[in-house]
Amino acid sequence: MAVQSDYPGTPLSDAQLRQVLTVETPPLLRYAWDTGVAVGRFLQELKNGRLIARKCRRCRRILVPPRIFCEECFRRTDEWVYVSDRGRVNTYSVSHIRWDASPLKEPVIVAVIEIDGASPGMGILHYLAEIKPEDVRIGMAVEAVWKPAGERTGSILDIRYFRPGPEA
Ligand SMILES: [Zn+2]
Repeated sequence: MAVQSDYPGTPLSDAQLRQVLTVETPPLLRYAWDTGVAVGRFLQELKNGRLIARKCRRCRRILVPPRIFCEECFRRTDEWVYVSDRGRVNTYSVSHIRWDASPLKEPVIVAVIEIDGASPGMGILHYLAEIKPEDVRIGMAVEAVWKPAGERTGSILDIRYFRPGPEA
């Protein structure tokens, strides 16, 4: 029902309103994401085949993924430091579905990898492969498997996955 108004304008009819509220799928959604300084540098270094972190001189923590601000000291972090592309499994999950909840033929292992050279508890979420789910252990050593240099784009997927690595 159209609403009478004292203000100039053209109220929408019920049919017009329904048209406005109808969303066709799939929607054409495009967006840009500003990485910020720290993650921007992190992604750029992935393209070079390296992992970079930020160090806070006050708490002496090495933060990865890097952040410009230390959330414990409430101050700016101080310097860039390279860390290893090896680490240890902090936790993991065996997933039988994709991000959109559609089923996978073969399950994938998703793990939090604590990166060697960074502070305890610092890690990145990534795939774990070249291992059976039943053989994964918390604390096991893993190493990054990189895409060839020419195929890297500055994405976390420049690392294809982590696989069991040599025990230090
Ligand atoms: Zn700090």
